[in-house]
Amino acid sequence: MRFPLSLTASLAGYLAKKQVRGEKKFPLVMMLEPLHACNLTCTGCGRIREYKATINEMLTVQQCLAALEDCGAPIVSICGGEPMIYPEIGRLAREVLARKKHIYLCTNGMFIRKRLHEFTPTSRFFFNVHLDGLEKTHDLCVERDGVFRDAIEGIKAAKAAGFLVTSNTTIYKETDIEEIAELFAYLQTLGVDGHMLSPAYSYAAVQTKDIFMSRSEIREKFHAASRLLDKYNLMTSPIYMEYLRGERELMCTAWGNPTYNPRGWKGPCYLMTDAHHKTFTEFIENTPWEKYGRGRDPRCQDCMVHAGYEASAVLGGNKKLGDTWKMLRWQFSGRMGGMRGKNGNAHANGNGHSQTNGDSKGRPVSVLESDFAAKPQEQSEVFRIL
Ligand code: SF4
Repeated sequence: MRFPLSLTASLAGYLAKKQVRGEKKFPLVMMLEPLHACNLTCTGCGRIREYKATINEMLTVQQCLAALEDCGAPIVSICGGEPMIYPEIGRLAREVLARKKHIYLCTNGMFIRKRLHEFTPTSRFFFNVHLDGLEKTHDLCVERDGVFRDAIEGIKAAKAAGFLVTSNTTIYKETDIEEIAELFAYLQTLGVDGHMLSPAYSYAAVQTKDIFMSRSEIREKFHAASRLLDKYNLMTSPIYMEYLRGERELMCTAWGNPTYNPRGWKGPCYLMTDAHHKTFTEFIENTPWEKYGRGRDPRCQDCMVHAGYEASAVLGGNKKLGDTWKMLRWQFSGRMGGMRGKNGNAHANGNGHSQTNGDSKGRPVSVLESDFAAKPQEQSEVFRIL
């Protein structure tokens, strides 16, 4: 299975109810940003720049839960900022899980070890760790040495404690897809359960524009990504991948991934801010959806981001015969848990035989691991706000 059965079942039930009620615009994944503060200053991040003036504002747990109730999405992506520096992150996760939702906690991974005791493993909770390459590349992207090592130690601790862990990689113009294949091969040996991919997109607030891709460059990158990365447990849907490779068109369905943050419901989408709305209903009803998307707003021209299009396969038009079968086959053909054996330590290949750990070029992964000597964490800056 590519995802836990509970996730597939809950999503199917939710979609069936919406269909029966004839609802047209509804959310699949709520992007919940309890705060915008972060301990890092990643080159491609729009949040820390756009919300600079309100960077110290946070939502209360009650506000987060009220917003979740307001939109009713079955999946919550807790992001930010860095959600692992949110003082009540453990309580927030418990409360969201108590409402039978699924959580992707999107983190840079640096504080997993420190705060792991605040969480309980369940098939409805994933740590989704941001990794844009191997050590050198990732540390360059996040503008700080040692981040990759801390994230890897966090992943190891989470897997050892029985948590589901996914990785989340943003593809930039300079991204070497072969390096991402090496990264995934390595993460598989740690038991990572799946991998998300999304093209970077040029936020208005980010000044370093030359890292972002045009539509044709995105297509080229994702052709290579499909060739090299399909063998891993990709959590990017096959229909969205077809769109990214330029093999089909999709319409933006930004309401499928609505963003809520200390300013309110962010409209129209995760990337662009033309308004903040007090309620989810206001967000849906007062956003002029017909004005957004390719060919309608120049800011949307090259956008192919997952927050606008991943949900389109389910929510949008342009459905093709066979899409449902394709999605089902994709779910059942996946395999969570990486290459770890049943004892959680030995690694096994697809035939169940043990093998020497190695990256995609056959280099022993121990070469990578030997670099991960303990390093003091730089946490004081982060916990200033706690
Ligand atoms: S096309 Fe992209 S930028 Fe435009 S509204 Fe949709 S998600 Fe936002």
